[in-house]
Amino acid sequence: MKHNYHAITLQKYDIGEMDRLYTFYTRENGLVRVPARSIRKMSAKLPMQVEDFVFSHITVAQNYGRGTLTGAVAEEYFVDARADYDALVCMDIARNVFLTIMDENDSNAEVFDLLMEYLHKMNVLAHDGCNHVVAQMQWITHAFLIHLFVLEGYAFDASRCCVCKQSLEQKRNGFSAHRGGVVCERCLPGHNCCRVDPDTVKALRVIQTNKFSTLTKVMIHAVVQKQMRMVVGDIERWVMR
Ligand SMILES: [Zn+2]
Repeated sequence: MKHNYHAITLQKYDIGEMDRLYTFYTRENGLVRVPARSIRKMSAKLPMQVEDFVFSHITVAQNYGRGTLTGAVAEEYFVDARADYDALVCMDIARNVFLTIMDENDSNAEVFDLLMEYLHKMNVLAHDGCNHVVAQMQWITHAFLIHLFVLEGYAFDASRCCVCKQSLEQKRNGFSAHRGGVVCERCLPGHNCCRVDPDTVKALRVIQTNKFSTLTKVMIHAVVQKQMRMVVGDIERWVMR
């Protein structure tokens, strides 16, 4: 029996002498791990269609177990992003979080579309270049991960203090994924929080209240960028607990 999938290649490992194990995120079946037999002795034709972060149509022959990758036709190579060192660093971070929180064979078309949109945005940034392009790539990567967390059921409140429910003052507040979002200064003692400035809370709100596809370039200064990284890391640890 043969299955066809729309697939984004996320990872590959060499196994045995000639084989390779691929990890795809597919629109139809979520995360799929499938071996490709003898792929390393083939001409480069098939392997090129399933390089990391390439979007392709793949065919899996399902005889037993995971089946075998028998065909792949690339549709979108994301050439610019895949050739850009800074983009790859961001995409590698995104990929690692993605692989740790997603389960196998659990399909979610919205997650697939989000991942495609992320790769498109990174490709455009790598192609166009601009001032502060690395900061823009990090911003898009953080936004992607926060939207991914939400789609997977981990939403966080950035509109008010998640402990006392009061509105937030323009002060340095805290963030705790364990508590469920932003924690105001009064509620901070006793909670293990990363500290977030008002601009970081604002950035979290921008991400939460906009569709990922409509997010555009914004000016993010280094402190906010650093705090966003801590927030995303805190959510990731909470999801992984
Ligand atoms: Zn509070």
